[in-house]
Amino acid sequence: MKHPKEEKTFVMVKPDGVRKGLIGQVISRFEQRDLKIVALEMFQPTHEQIHDHYPKDEAWITRLGEKTKSTYEKYGYDLIADFNTEDAAQIGPEVRTWLVDYMKSAPLVKMVVQGVHAVDIVRKLAGDTLPYRAAVGTIRGDFSIDSPVLANKEKRAVANIIHCSETPEEAEHEIQHWFGKAVLHEYKRFGVDE
Ligand code: GDP
Repeated sequence: MKHPKEEKTFVMVKPDGVRKGLIGQVISRFEQRDLKIVALEMFQPTHEQIHDHYPKDEAWITRLGEKTKSTYEKYGYDLIADFNTEDAAQIGPEVRTWLVDYMKSAPLVKMVVQGVHAVDIVRKLAGDTLPYRAAVGTIRGDFSIDSPVLANKEKRAVANIIHCSETPEEAEHEIQHWFGKAVLHEYKRFGVDE
């Protein structure tokens, strides 16, 4: 068993976060909550890197399609007009393509964030996936108003500033995918480790 302070999660500042000049603010929110940055890099991702980052299984892709479908139903928009289908399994791949295009549209900043309950705390600091719904005080709630109602109309992914792992297992997989053998640094933070 690892020490609770060694829990790690993976975070990326997405293209809108980089282009809005929010890299520093994102890092500050983690640091002010006593989390520790143990790896950090800006880079331009390849198509393959992004394609392999998001799950490719049918269940995940269909879930993405279901989310889009439910927004259309909630707001009374015409799914057939925009997608030519009502089948979530066919809508999902199109939304996944928007996501890959969005993630390649500017350099990203990837990091590993460490600390007690790092995965859950970072998700909480990030806020709801959909910024219009995210609570004030969260990263997505303070710096974006984007909504699937607009994003789907414009045939693009919802722009929500950062990506962060959902579970410790996903974090481990994503840290391996994005950092591979790169060194995760060790240091003692004042007030946290000593
Ligand atoms: P996350 O873990 O909070 O990033 O959320 P998901 O894994 O559910 O979705 C992945 C990404 O797809 C989100 O961060 C958004 O950028 C995008 N996204 C999610 N739902 C929708 C949607 O209904 N419409 C569109 N256009 N994009 C979406």
